[in-house]
Parts: sequence; C-alpha cells; structure tokens
Amino acid sequence: MKFATVVFGCQMNIHDSERIDGLLTSEGWEKTENLKSADVVILLTCCVRESAEERFWGYLQSLKPLKRKGTIFAVGGCLAQEIGTGIFNRAPHVDLVFGTHQYVNILDLIWRSMKGPVCSLEMDGLNLASAPLRRREGFRAWVPIIHGCNNFCSYCIVPYTRGKEISRPREEIFREIDRLAQEGVKEIVLLGQNVNSYGKDIYGHREFPRLLGEIAERLPGVWVRFLTSHPRDFDEALVEVVSSHDNICRYIHLPVQAGSDRILLKMNRGYNRDFYLRLVELIRERSPRCSISTDIIVGFPGEKERDFQDTVDLVERCAFDSAFTYIYNRREGTKAAELGGEVPREKIMERFHKLTSLTDKLTFESNRRERGSVQVVLVEGKSKKDQENMLKGRTSRNKVVNFLGEEKLIGEFVRVKIEEAGKFSLLGRIVPDKESSRQHSE
Ligand code: SF4
Repeated sequence: MKFATVVFGCQMNIHDSERIDGLLTSEGWEKTENLKSADVVILLTCCVRESAEERFWGYLQSLKPLKRKGTIFAVGGCLAQEIGTGIFNRAPHVDLVFGTHQYVNILDLIWRSMKGPVCSLEMDGLNLASAPLRRREGFRAWVPIIHGCNNFCSYCIVPYTRGKEISRPREEIFREIDRLAQEGVKEIVLLGQNVNSYGKDIYGHREFPRLLGEIAERLPGVWVRFLTSHPRDFDEALVEVVSSHDNICRYIHLPVQAGSDRILLKMNRGYNRDFYLRLVELIRERSPRCSISTDIIVGFPGEKERDFQDTVDLVERCAFDSAFTYIYNRREGTKAAELGGEVPREKIMERFHKLTSLTDKLTFESNRRERGSVQVVLVEGKSKKDQENMLKGRTSRNKVVNFLGEEKLIGEFVRVKIEEAGKFSLLGRIVPDKESSRQHSE
C-alpha cells in the first residue's frame, strides 16, 4: 500500500506526521510524495488560525478527482478534533476523521474506514513510547516531551483540541534521545505547546529545567532547543540551565502576545507586563548571547489605542531579535469569541503595519550585530538564494545564514564568518575549523 501525508500547521503536526510515517512504513507501507499514486492520503489539519483552516478546505476540495480511483482520504489534527463528523458533511469524499490522540491507532482506523466512514475522537491519553518514528530530517529530531495545554488563553483553541497536559516520563524521553544520538542527530528540539510546564502533571512540580540540563549533559555533542515557552512557567532556574550549558541553543521563544495589562488579563495569560519585562531583563543579564523572539496579537477584542501603545513600548524595551505578529483571529468555542469590543479592521491593519515595521527594524538591527562574528552553523539544506552553489543553515541564536558550500555539508556543523546582514537572514563564508565545532560563536 502507498500513502501520502500532507501537513497544515505547527511543529506538533509535523511530529505527528513523522509518527504516522513510522507506524505505516514499519508495517511495510510505502510513502509517496505523489498523491496521484497514493492509496491513502492523510491530511493533518490546524485550526489555530483561520487562514490555515481555509487553505485546508480548499486543498481538500481540490483532491476530489482522486476519489474516482478509490483513494482513501483521512483527516486528522486539531480541526478534525474540533469538528469531527462535520468534516464528512462538508467533504463527503473523506473516509476517516481522527482526533489528536488517535494517530497512534492509524493503521486500524484506515482498515476500518475501508468498510465505511469512521470518526474516532477519543482523548484517552497518548502512548508514544511504542510508536515508531520516521524523521523527515536526518540531522534534526523533534521530540515532544509534553502534549496538550492547561492554560486556556482566552483566544486559543488548543486546550480543547489537544486536551490537557500529559508529560512523558523522563526515562522514556531519555531512551528516545539516546537512540537519536546513536543515529547521529545533530540537533534535538524538545517540543510542547507549553514546554516549560513539563512535569507538573506527573511529578507535581515543574521539572523542565532539570530535564533540559540532564539532556544537555547526556548529549554533549548535540544542540538542544526547546519550543514553546510560556512566560509564566519561565524562571531563574531555567535561565541558569540555559546559560550554563554550551550545547543548549542561545535562543528563547517567549510569546508575550500583548504589552497591556488590561489585554493580558482578558487573554488570561497569567502574567503582567512588569513580570515579562523582568524576565527579559533576567535573560539578557544572565545569558547576554541569547536571542529572544516573541509572538504578538494585534486587534484583540477591546484593544484601545493606549493598549496598543503599551505593546509598542514593551517591544521597544525588549528589543526582540525577531517577532511573529498576528492579527487577532476569532475562533468559535473560545472565551475571546464571546467578548465584545471588536476593533475595526482599518484600525487593526494600521496597528499591524506599525508594529511589523518596528519588529522588522529590530530584527535587522539584531542581524547587523552579528556582522564580523564567526558562528557555528548547522547546515539545513540548499539556499533559496542560489540552489546550485549556496547552502543555508541556522546558528545557535536561530539566525538563518546563507553561504557558499557543497551539498555534502548538509546536516553538518560548519563555522561561518558573518559578512552581511539582511532583514531576515545573514550572508557569510565558511572558515576553517579550529577546535570544537560546537562552540556557539566567537
Ligand atoms: S499557552 Fe495559551 S496560547 Fe499556548 S497553547 Fe496553551 S492555551 Fe494556547
């Protein structure tokens, strides 16, 4: 049997698709990129933003002609969890709808769906320990350490679609990363919707700083990253662990979402602007080489001009190395969807452009500060700038660097002297290796 997977949305979905690939290939199925030759097409959906959802629906409709040859269509992920059989109503050519905890049963579900439509949405806990994995990138591995989220930020659908937090036991994580190290991975990304809340459900307290430190010590030659941190669960102990381990990447993604206390309260974020500012100050002080990125929502219900100005002020003070700015997206079923005070579209766009021009300027300034340094770069692939001759990679500080180099370097660490800074990436040249290639920069 041949199957194809198509992923919409976040890293969690990419990871789920790697598990599905692993489960099916270990049963002798063949993965194909060519949808026309697939017997089963599996789509993993995202409903965090309306745009991802719209793209999915359009794409699903475009696959209809393949149904003529009897192809099975399976739809999983957050949107499947949220609307369940509603998928069949809108797209009768779909045979299987499975929720975010059900991909571990994918094989059985596919066989059942061959006899008639199946919808499986139980959220009865995940057991990934036995699920094989087929990674997309040989040199980098995404390792979920916690699933779900307990935070219920008022605008977010994730706690409803991914369920409550379930941490994986430490021993299970250690077994997985040891195996990955033996396979030769160069970078491990510890993953969770709220990664730094790891451990509360099984150990009764946050265990993330200890886990992170132990992983870094266990795999001294491997870079370790983590995504996504909630400011409320970020503390001094975690900053300490990051700054005291050379192989923990000097990059922290710390979504602030808004700079106004009034809006943060409405968002149910669990911290105020002072708390966030103190956190950034602490990171800058203890780990000055650390780059910090953030997420910001513009146009949250009830956002007034002075709230927006508070956000602008916070962004300036934090001088983020990069930022992802989003326009507020109303999601049915969330608390925020019931709040009044919709901000007029024109106002939102005006604020959005103002904010992105500020964050772009800050990113450019941050990039310019890299000029002249020599950075260790993990080579990711060919550069879009020149597919023939150039490669692209990422520094410990999560900066994308383009440079001349041969394809055989993909998946290796190289040392690159940064010569030019662009708005969104850097340009450099490979320099000879001195001693350890795992230093961050010099
Ligand atoms: S922390 Fe908030 S925004 Fe992030 S996944 Fe949980 S509820 Fe959603």
